[in-house]
Amino acid sequence: MAVTRRIVIIGSGPAGYTAAIYAARANLAPLMISGIQAGGQLMLTTLVENYPGFVDGLMGPDLMEAMRQQAERFGTEIIAEDVTAVDFSRRPFHVRTGDREYDALTVIIATGASSKMLGVPSEKLLMGRGVSTCATCDGFFFRDQNIMVVGGGDSAMEEALYLARLGRKVEVVHRRDRLRASKIMQERALKNPKISFVWNSVVDDILDASAGKVTAVKLRDVDTGEVTERPVDGLFVAIGHQPNTGIFRGQIDLLPNGYARVTPGTTQTSVPGVFAAGDVQDSMWRQAVTAAGTGCMAALEAERYLEATYPG
Ligand code: NAP
Repeated sequence: MAVTRRIVIIGSGPAGYTAAIYAARANLAPLMISGIQAGGQLMLTTLVENYPGFVDGLMGPDLMEAMRQQAERFGTEIIAEDVTAVDFSRRPFHVRTGDREYDALTVIIATGASSKMLGVPSEKLLMGRGVSTCATCDGFFFRDQNIMVVGGGDSAMEEALYLARLGRKVEVVHRRDRLRASKIMQERALKNPKISFVWNSVVDDILDASAGKVTAVKLRDVDTGEVTERPVDGLFVAIGHQPNTGIFRGQIDLLPNGYARVTPGTTQTSVPGVFAAGDVQDSMWRQAVTAAGTGCMAALEAERYLEATYPG
């Protein structure tokens, strides 16, 4: 019969690894089901300069590798599988991957969120090479350069305003003639002298994958169909995020925007013993360091829950 785990952590970004480090150091022998593509969104970035403790910054994948090793050093067992289904209606909880099933007294959900992407041919190839989904992470590399932001929501305005402090100019490309962003964010962006708007336009492709960097963007006017090429050094995609909560639908309460609902100030979901940490429950801050912070909270809350519910 399968051993019942005290803590199963689903996901392996900064939230998952931090939860694992804390749980392992509390002698709870956590099992992490990392996903086949482990490491989360930082695996898609290059230099990370805003994670405290690294004076010269470090590469996103290196940071995640260090977190993985730190979690393993204290006894976290890591399985590189994708969770396909969970059952939180029974105890112990049930977590299924393609091949196996696990029983768990507590579960920490740390599956993160994924940036929505444009889906144009060169986007993946140029990710981290001029294409980014995070101005706070990568804006610094485009000081005094020409930057383009795609999107018309609050995220796009926020990215554009942040980038306007760094870049020479920022063009916002939006597929309609009206912004979705809140009035206040619209006003700020519209009156910023460094920000201009390209309306009714979509990105058809990004150049130049063969050079390994962004040199220009092909834009298509959705009304006329005309395609133009605009030289840019960096392209920031800000068309929203999707929390990775699909497998938890019907198991825990989700907010209308799909994010996991937690009791404010905690990581407790609607099911006692199931906790959510990192971007999967945070549509607001979405930083590696805030994810790590809530990962820590989730492990400590799980530990307290275990002590209270399964003493001895
Ligand atoms: P959002 O509100 O869903 O906006 C996404 C934007 O991207 C929309 O303008 C949308 O166009 C566009 N878009 C979507 N798919 C596209 C595609 N395939 N190609 C081109 N454009 C595409 O997402 P968000 O801006 O990330 O905001 C999410 C939530 O977080 C919102 O509730 C927002 O208020 C909040 N938020 C708040 C702040 C703040 O207050 N400082 C900052 C960030 C986010 P359409 O308009 O045509 O649909």
